[in-house]
Amino acid sequence: MDSGHLRALKAGSWSKLICGASYQDTASIEPLSWVFTLAGVNCIDVCADPAVVAAARRGIQRAGTTPPLLMVSLNDDTDPHFRKAHFDPQVCPPDCPRPCERVCPVQAISTAGVDAARCYGCGRCLEICPYQYITARTYVHRPAAVIELLHHQPIAALEIHTQTGHEHSFAHLWRQLQPWVQRLQVLAISCPDHPQVIPYLWNLYKIITPLPCALIWQADGRPMSGDIGAGTTWATVRLAQKILDRGPPGFVQLAGGTNQATWPLVQKLNLPVHGVAYGSYARKSLQPYLQNLDNSDVLAAAVHTAQELIAPKRPDAGDWAFAAAPAPTVPG
Ligand code: SF4
Ligand code: SF4
Repeated sequence: MDSGHLRALKAGSWSKLICGASYQDTASIEPLSWVFTLAGVNCIDVCADPAVVAAARRGIQRAGTTPPLLMVSLNDDTDPHFRKAHFDPQVCPPDCPRPCERVCPVQAISTAGVDAARCYGCGRCLEICPYQYITARTYVHRPAAVIELLHHQPIAALEIHTQTGHEHSFAHLWRQLQPWVQRLQVLAISCPDHPQVIPYLWNLYKIITPLPCALIWQADGRPMSGDIGAGTTWATVRLAQKILDRGPPGFVQLAGGTNQATWPLVQKLNLPVHGVAYGSYARKSLQPYLQNLDNSDVLAAAVHTAQELIAPKRPDAGDWAFAAAPAPTVPG
């Protein structure tokens, strides 16, 4: 691994852009990768899809500076990050006020239905349809296809999405990845909270060790929610605190609900996490710039926005974002 990226992990200033495990909108992924590489991000996490990886690489190469690690994500079983919304637009009543379109954070829904490339499975449209016409189609990556991708692309980081209770499917996936594990520079394991999450992470640790690379536990607090509001960041902070207190060895990185309030909260709590990954909030913040990056002023403003997000702003931590949020607790 580039020593700068490893130093950032050790120093607690690691940053990652999450393009989304299911997000395949290459028209956005390429400029996002360009901007965040210029901003100095340590890692860019993309869907394990050759077209998406190629788009991210174009963006990284265009920046012409220290490249971030390129990471792809896969799942050990069904997982909300690996699903696409679907409905048949022909059955929608003509007088429907179309709340599905308004709630979608990436404008993936139109009168033609769901644009599958844009849909990243956040689930917000699923509940809002008054006729319950929208369903989720889940999928599990074939490890063989991902390994094929890894062989042909300069991908040195892998993220496995898992959930408490998946020991068997995780171990099965891990066995299939063995031929490739020696080439890894970073393994990230992303897991949401659960009353038994700590013993579960210890079980995974026994499965994956000895490990020839850096290990990151991604505390996936409230998945795919960072753009909803500042308070979403509490869930990942609470989970990270549990992992830091009682979890297995490894770096601990926040995700799932991260946004502009995350670094100030980390500072306020003096939480010794090693980094933060930004997904929906980062993409939403940069969206207004992405179509005009050939204008140097717009590019500079976009890079500044990205840097404001990923650079640890510990000395500037403020209280404004936390007024309505509950105090952190660490349930047993
Ligand atoms: S609201 Fe979420 S799940 Fe629904 S189409 Fe948009 S991105 Fe996909
Ligand atoms: S809310 Fe439901 S019925 Fe209305 S347009 Fe969307 S999918 Fe169709």
